[in-house]
Amino acid sequence: MTIKVPFVDLNLQHLPIQSQLQAAIQDVVTKGDFILGQAVSEFEGAFAAASGTKYGIGVASGTDAIALGLQACSIGAGDEVILPSNTFIATLIGVVNAGAKPILVDCHPQTALIDLEAAAKAITPQTKAIIPVHLYGQMVSPSQLLDFANTYKILIFEDAAQAHLAEKEGYTAGSIGLAAAFSFYPSKNLGAFGDGGIVLTSDANVAKKMRSLRNYGSSQKYVHIEPGTNSRLDTLQAAVLNQKLPYISQWNSDRLTIAQMYDRELAPLASAGILPMENQSGTGHIYHLYVIKIDDSCHLERQQIQEKLMVAGIQTGIHYPIPCHLQPAFTYLGYQPGDFPQAEKLSQQILSLPMYPGLTASQITEVINAMSSIIKDSKN
Ligand SMILES: *Cc1c(COP(=O)(O)O)cnc(C)c1O
Repeated sequence: MTIKVPFVDLNLQHLPIQSQLQAAIQDVVTKGDFILGQAVSEFEGAFAAASGTKYGIGVASGTDAIALGLQACSIGAGDEVILPSNTFIATLIGVVNAGAKPILVDCHPQTALIDLEAAAKAITPQTKAIIPVHLYGQMVSPSQLLDFANTYKILIFEDAAQAHLAEKEGYTAGSIGLAAAFSFYPSKNLGAFGDGGIVLTSDANVAKKMRSLRNYGSSQKYVHIEPGTNSRLDTLQAAVLNQKLPYISQWNSDRLTIAQMYDRELAPLASAGILPMENQSGTGHIYHLYVIKIDDSCHLERQQIQEKLMVAGIQTGIHYPIPCHLQPAFTYLGYQPGDFPQAEKLSQQILSLPMYPGLTASQITEVINAMSSIIKDSKN
């Protein structure tokens, strides 16, 4: 079986700029400033500015950006942090690694984004923060978030790992709350050649604390004012990211074009139970993933559809098959099946289709035709 449409193909974005990527890497090797070198501070400044914040502090991963970012916002032991159950596990791990208590809540069935009414019911006197996850590249409403944080006197810490330069209501992802975390895992909308992450903030104290936490808790060499760790964005990775940053707006808009094509061409399958996730904001969505739902009314199970697509040479994904509250590692949190019905239902129904810049119109047609004939054949 030949793969006609892979789920991700990073070569499509790297080959056209290969020579500049290689030159940037060679430049770091020549300079030898591998740890917190010039490319790191350049990238931190450029990415913060592009996202509408004052400071960027590069770290080793998105997971560390959440854990250290929360600590820099003075969140830790004894504090409760609200987050959605249907997110990548790293959001939860970040909260746990910061020493805080994660409080999971359900999501909206249409958008898969955190349900703020459910979050309101989870507030206690210990609640310090909410982590909206801008899942699949779509932002949680900034105005609703700010109202929420104001009402309950808690802070907002964004998980923007899937939302580089997404926009909504005049805000860019990462600029709504006190601080935000991003990941540069290779397949994210802006990806490095390995692991990487960043914390964005416009608060000078949070930025200062972050710089210390990622660098052994020191602001001055061999003087350690707090127990920090070693979690820095590699200079080599920053050099790669500097080269890729100028292209991200174009890449994001290429993704939007692909999403619009999927939306249009898959619309006739709605009556057969194949539904796109709802896009509330139009163009501000950056489609890290293009997710559809296989509804109860569909003749086929998701697994059957996924297998038939694979036979047709089309790779798909599921983001995510097990919601955080049902993950074996976190049974100690005490959640049960049935606690978050929307998240649980979505985890059974969602399917992610190939989505990346460079995907050709004929490949998209391939996916759509395969999907249409799978549905049609199943009815006969
Ligand atoms: C990728 C991702 C992370 C974690 O980032 P890493 O760099 O892989 O540690 C956190 N949250 C979400 C929503 C993600 O998609």
